[in-house]
Amino acid sequence: MKNYRQETICVQGGYTPGNGEPRQIPIVQSTTFKYETGEAMGKLFDLEASGYFYTRLQNPTNDYVASKIAALEGGTAAMLTSSGQAANFFAMFNLAGCGDHIVASSSIYGGTFNLISVTMARMGIDVTFVPPTCTDDELNAAFRPNTKLLFGETIANPALTVLDIEQFARAAHAHGVPLIVDNTFATPVNCRPFDWGADIVTHSTTKYMDGHGVAVGGAIVDSGKFDWLAHADKFPGLCTPDESYHGVTYAEKFGKEGAFITKCTAQLMRDFGAIQSPQHAFYLNLGLESLHVRMARHCENGQAVAEFLAAHPRVKSVQYCGLPGDPYYARGQKYLPHGSCGVVSFELKGGREAASRFMNGLRLAAIETHVADARTCCLNPATTTHRQMTDAQLEAAGVPAGLVRMSCGLENAQDLIDDIAQALD
Ligand SMILES: *Cc1c(COP(=O)(O)O)cnc(C)c1O
Repeated sequence: MKNYRQETICVQGGYTPGNGEPRQIPIVQSTTFKYETGEAMGKLFDLEASGYFYTRLQNPTNDYVASKIAALEGGTAAMLTSSGQAANFFAMFNLAGCGDHIVASSSIYGGTFNLISVTMARMGIDVTFVPPTCTDDELNAAFRPNTKLLFGETIANPALTVLDIEQFARAAHAHGVPLIVDNTFATPVNCRPFDWGADIVTHSTTKYMDGHGVAVGGAIVDSGKFDWLAHADKFPGLCTPDESYHGVTYAEKFGKEGAFITKCTAQLMRDFGAIQSPQHAFYLNLGLESLHVRMARHCENGQAVAEFLAAHPRVKSVQYCGLPGDPYYARGQKYLPHGSCGVVSFELKGGREAASRFMNGLRLAAIETHVADARTCCLNPATTTHRQMTDAQLEAAGVPAGLVRMSCGLENAQDLIDDIAQALD
């Protein structure tokens, strides 16, 4: 499927049925797989042969969908996880352990910020956060000898900042570590971080990839480009024998193309078990089949709503990189030339009171803790996810009390604008 364009991979990637086989990917609803001899199965346990034996490790339905996502991102290997949180945790913990250090953009999803700054800190992994607008000097100064990776989001949720992927990749590689990019909001339809130097990509497939609000899920994709053995001292987990698999050395046995995902599956999925069910993988694949069509409409609606809001007297400011006045407009034009996503953040004059009255007045857009759904939804962080914070704390966190995050769905753009206009009135 590598030689086809994105639209074709969305529809047909990952699974090519043979004669008389099902046209749609089969849901292999089985926890386990049968073997004729114990020896045949033993080879699988030693990673000497590849095959299925238990769905916690691998399942054919999941593998079809993972390989579609790998093809969309231009990667060499991929795996599905139970959620975006699990994907980001696995991707980072596959490289960094107790006593190690991570550098991350400060402009990332709140759940990932918490994962790194609280839970991974408790596991003995240190972090230095850098602003998405940092200079090369600031970025380079954040690295330490025990730094194992650099992390950022293509388009940050909910700040909507755009990552300078080339700048981050350059800094990561200068320090001998990979760049991991969470590409959830852009999706590979709008940006392929590997084309700009990123090494690993993660996704919350819960968002646009599913796109219909039906299944929580995640994915990890490897570009196959990072040379682990050239930095063997930094990555002993990939470059020295794994005693829990009879001494296999992942980087030697599976090469640059396969080592990262094989280790992540064989160790982390084996031990933590955060699998995506084959049923969820099937739903995810239905979403992927129309991803290219849906992203264009999400972007069109996002752009139309952002332009309407920017011109409205009751709106203080709008964050959307498709607006020429936006601080991330230039980066958006470079990394997201076909559009960014359907999520628009804006601040109303009149703070939380105005935001609350506005949202209660909406008829089409629902109030939800979700984004990237076919149905338009919105959230006021000050009265929901961030309600424990004072107005001053909210301001300092870049989430002013009057901020509304609106995820534009697939409805008619004028209907969305009419709804927003009557609610603002
Ligand atoms: C939602 C989200 C996550 C977490 O994903 P879940 O599927 O909810 O666990 C991670 N990163 C980004 C950018 C997200 O938007």
